[in-house]
Amino acid sequence: MDRRTFIVANWKMHKTPEEAAQTAESIITSLSSLPATADIALAPSFPALLTVAEKLKDTPFLLAAQNVHTEPQGAFTGEISAPMLKACGCQFVIVGHSERRQYSSETDSLIQKKIRASILNKIGPILCVGESDAQRNEGRTFKVLDKQVREAVKGLSVTDAEFLILAYEPIWAIGTGKTASVDQVQEVHAFLRETLADCFEKDLAKRIRILYGGSVKPSNIKELIALSDVDGALVGGASLDPETFVSLIRNG
Ligand code: PGA
Repeated sequence: MDRRTFIVANWKMHKTPEEAAQTAESIITSLSSLPATADIALAPSFPALLTVAEKLKDTPFLLAAQNVHTEPQGAFTGEISAPMLKACGCQFVIVGHSERRQYSSETDSLIQKKIRASILNKIGPILCVGESDAQRNEGRTFKVLDKQVREAVKGLSVTDAEFLILAYEPIWAIGTGKTASVDQVQEVHAFLRETLADCFEKDLAKRIRILYGGSVKPSNIKELIALSDVDGALVGGASLDPETFVSLIRNG
């Protein structure tokens, strides 16, 4: 099954609108001579979506947001809706990142609603799942991931699920410099694909892209992407500096 590689730069709470636009411009310029063999999305903070969107116009690069609210509009101070993201040009949104689960107490059922809101607006949700260090050491990795996936995709039709992207991000590997071993990554990704096949259907599960995230860098992208069930990467720290991110893409 041919799944196009997808690399997503998650800039988290970094870069002003101007800095984000400059970074986007350097990335676009440096990669302009490279044949577009992968989909590449940039996920800046909300205030930088429009300045980055402007730079991405008429390029193959894609725009992603880092969060979305469940409702289309209303009295929800400080929130951003899926129609607003769509109007800014977002094709994707990161949902259920472990930092949001941890610091903003996001639950699986809230994440499920965010996924529905995104798909309703034709925005592809990048659903992040991952176990903590303690959960892995207690042998609960698969149980934790199974619950995170099943609860987040509950009620989605096969047509809805065509929009879905999954990202396996072991919490212990995020921003720590510790990457999961290739065996650990492939084992989990194969498990996630089986879970998707069980939730939907086998053919769809073969089409859904599953990204790996957690200390992905220019030196390890190649071996990760080479794994049969890894279809790309969600990159935090190594996406902030344009030169580093460009070399990661070139190595991938
Ligand atoms: P990292 O972050 O690449 O800095 O580990 C990945 C992520 O949190 O998406």
